[in-house]
Amino acid sequence: MNLKLLPHIYVKNIESIPYQKLKDSGIKCLIFDLDNTLALLDEEVCPKRVQKLITKLKKDFQVFIITNSSLKRANPYQECLKIEVISMAMKPLTRALKKIKRKYKLQKNEMIMIGDQLMTDILSGKKFGIKTILVDPIGVKDLKITKLNRIIENRLITKYQKLGLFERGKYYE
Ligand SMILES: [Mg+2]
Repeated sequence: MNLKLLPHIYVKNIESIPYQKLKDSGIKCLIFDLDNTLALLDEEVCPKRVQKLITKLKKDFQVFIITNSSLKRANPYQECLKIEVISMAMKPLTRALKKIKRKYKLQKNEMIMIGDQLMTDILSGKKFGIKTILVDPIGVKDLKITKLNRIIENRLITKYQKLGLFERGKYYE
C-alpha cells in the first residue's frame, strides 16, 4: 500500500489549521497551494478573508504560495499579499520547495505544505520530506488536469478508507 499520499494533518479549511500548534512544534514556513486552497478558481482578485489571514500569519511565519497555475493567475496574489509566489511549479515535482528551502536557508522540519490535492500538493511535500496538511477544496470547479487527478485521488481515498487510514470529512491533527 502506497502511503506517500497520506497527509500528516487533515482539516476542513485554511481557517481551521492549528497554526499555534505548528508554531510551537518548530514550523517556521507555511507554503500554500492557491487554487481551491486559498481561493476559488475564478477569484481573480485576492479575497479579503485571505488578505486578513495571511497578514496575521506573516507575523509568526514565512509564508509562500506554490501553484501549478500561470504567473498571470498568481500575480495579483503576489502583489496583494506581498509574499513570494512560485507559479507553474509542476507539483508533484519538488523543485519549488527546493528553491524556497535553499533561498531562505530553511530546514525541512521547519516547512509545511498546505493544499487541497493529494496528487500534487501532498505528494510534492511528502516526496520532499516535509510535513503536509490537506484541506477540503473550497470550490467544486477544477482545472482540466485536476479533474483527472481527482479521479485517481478518489480511488486512492477509497483504498485508504477501507484500511481505516483516511476518510473525507474525518479530520485529524
Ligand atoms: Mg489546489
